[in-house]
Amino acid sequence: MFLIVGIAPKTKILDHSPRICPACGLAQARLKRVDSYFNLFFIPLIRVKKGEPFIICDRCESITSETTSGYYSPWDKKKSRCNSCGGTLDGEFKYCPHCGKPVTLNIS
Ligand SMILES: [Zn+2]
Ligand SMILES: [Zn+2]
Repeated sequence: MFLIVGIAPKTKILDHSPRICPACGLAQARLKRVDSYFNLFFIPLIRVKKGEPFIICDRCESITSETTSGYYSPWDKKKSRCNSCGGTLDGEFKYCPHCGKPVTLNIS
């Protein structure tokens, strides 16, 4: 009898609340993580490697890393305003283009 062992990936959904997918614009993106498990007879026994969390869209399968600053939803963008002067920030700015003060994003 053979022992069937191996390392296999296992996808974990970290957050079930959907996010806006930047690629297709639908709220179908979910925060997931792929961990590597030591398998015995196709049963995951021990987690050998913890994967990095990422956001993948269920519909178009485009992946957005949670850690990159490039991720934003169109809704957050609309609400981005400078704390100092209240000017709208069309994109991500370190310094406000209106008053030149450092921007701390206040997304409510
Ligand atoms: Zn999508
Ligand atoms: Zn400003």
